[in-house]
Parts: sequence; structure tokens; C-alpha cells
Amino acid sequence: MVNKKKKVSKAASSPFTKKELASVRAKLVKKKAQILEDFIKIEGDTLNKSYKDASGDLSGYAFHMADMATDLYDREFSLGLAEEERERLFALDDALKRVDEGIYGLCDSCGVKISKQRLKVMPQAKNCIKCQEEEEKSTG
Ligand SMILES: [Zn+2]
Repeated sequence: MVNKKKKVSKAASSPFTKKELASVRAKLVKKKAQILEDFIKIEGDTLNKSYKDASGDLSGYAFHMADMATDLYDREFSLGLAEEERERLFALDDALKRVDEGIYGLCDSCGVKISKQRLKVMPQAKNCIKCQEEEEKSTG
């Protein structure tokens, strides 16, 4: 006899399954790594090169960093980043946080589910299109 009680999910929980969240997470981390990697390539000469000698794998380093360096912005490292890149990193970090909190995919402003299509194009989106437009109207 199967009479499992269905767990009532919280009102505000991610529309994504755990599996989907895991792949989203990987995507976000990868995007972060790409930004960091570009930066490292540009600033490579001024950075301590020991990590290259140690691993010989720059992308692996960037990937690792993207995953662990949530306090990145407090470091000297971030000073060399362009404003735009920093904002992108912030947005990606924010999205990662929401993945971990299980609220990824919900609009930060109104709480509705953000369309998966939108998230596919912009995985770091934290607002639904409607709220995004409102915001652009008010700030632009
Ligand atoms: Zn919204």
C-alpha cells in the first residue's frame, strides 16, 4: 500500500528540479569562469604566475576560482575588472546564491516564475520580463 504524503512545497520554491538546478549551477559557474579567464589572460602578466606553474591549466584555475571565490570582490583581484565585468560577476553570483537557496527561477520582485526560455538566454536573470521592463523604464 502506497500512501505517501505529498510534501507541500513552499509557495516560493524554484520551478526547477534538482537536476535542472545542478546544470544551471554548472552553467553559471562556467560563465563566471569565462569572465575570470578573460581577465586572467589580460592581466596574466601582473598576476602571480605560480598557479600556472602548479597546474599548467589556466582554465581549470579559473573554473575553480569561479566556484569558490564568492568573496572575490573584496580582493585586490577585482580592482582590475571592468565595471561591466564586475556587474556580470555579481549577477552570476547572485543567481548562484538563488540556486543554492532553491528560489532560482522566481522573479525577485513579484515572485512569479521566470520563463525558462528567458533563463536559457539569460541564466542570471533575476526578474521576470515584466519587472525587468519596469525597471528599465524607471532607471532609463
Ligand atoms: Zn516579476
